[in-house]
Amino acid sequence: MASATDDVMRFLKNRGWAGRIVGVKRLHELREAIEARRDRSLFDEDFYQEQLRGFTFQPPELLPGVRSIIIIAVPVPQTRAIFHTNGGPLPAVLPPTYAGYSATTDKVRAALGDFLASKGHRVAKTVLPLKTLAVGSALADYGRNNICYVNGMGSFLQLVGCYSDLPCPGGSWREATMLERCKSCSACELRCPTEAIRQDRFLLRAERCLTFHNERPGEFPDWIDPSAHNCLIGCMHCQSVCPENKSHLAWMEDRCEFSMEETALMLKRVALDQLPPVMKEKLRSLELNEAFENLCRNLSALVGAESKTRPPRA
Ligand code: SF4
Ligand code: SF4
Repeated sequence: MASATDDVMRFLKNRGWAGRIVGVKRLHELREAIEARRDRSLFDEDFYQEQLRGFTFQPPELLPGVRSIIIIAVPVPQTRAIFHTNGGPLPAVLPPTYAGYSATTDKVRAALGDFLASKGHRVAKTVLPLKTLAVGSALADYGRNNICYVNGMGSFLQLVGCYSDLPCPGGSWREATMLERCKSCSACELRCPTEAIRQDRFLLRAERCLTFHNERPGEFPDWIDPSAHNCLIGCMHCQSVCPENKSHLAWMEDRCEFSMEETALMLKRVALDQLPPVMKEKLRSLELNEAFENLCRNLSALVGAESKTRPPRA
């Protein structure tokens, strides 16, 4: 007879998703994995405070009898928004996971919640380091770029975590593991414009990564080459050269277009509450309105990088 775990795996597979279930006792390993790297001073302190400090390693009180954590990988595309400038149309890419992150998370949790409710179980949301959970549970491997890769999805995926009262008799755990292919490849290291990826250490120098800088407020550090900017937020350089992504790279969803006037408002860094409602709606549909100030700065940087590579107009 199929176990409840088998039923969940089949449910995920039927939707084109992938997942693993681990016992809730793994919370200890998850916390250890983060804290041990901090103790060894492997994290830049700003990066730790901004990106890693907010995790909660306590089971949720709202779900008494929690026994397991389910980690799910969902294939997601890159997204493109078109801006119009005096120099012509400017396609601006968003790496997988940025556009509609919460909508995807909510959709997956609701679908899994309904499925498990039909079996007499419940789910609750997690605030956990999902990449560490995905790799520890053997759902994913790290690339040399420290991005998660799942078999059949490359790095075009979003991770979603759920607590559950589903029993988890197995649920193995392993040390952080790098893709086999990375042992004979250094394409991402060579392509990275900020030397964030290094041969001599497994952990990314996150404080050098463009993504860290274009997700936080303030001006960019002087050491970032202006031509390095390549996305409206985030960075695709190391993912786009990765052979693991070869069959996924063309998966691009065009989501919205910003007129000359709308683009100009962003380049002038007009405040979000001063924007026309239709423009706010476009940003909301991408779930990017909260990052609006950063987006305006990033768009200026992207226009600058583009103008250096664009051939002069006839
Ligand atoms: S580009 Fe090569 S080294 Fe980098 S993550 Fe992909 S396979 Fe690994
Ligand atoms: S995301 Fe960009 S900056 Fe960060 S490691 Fe990859 S290539 Fe380098």
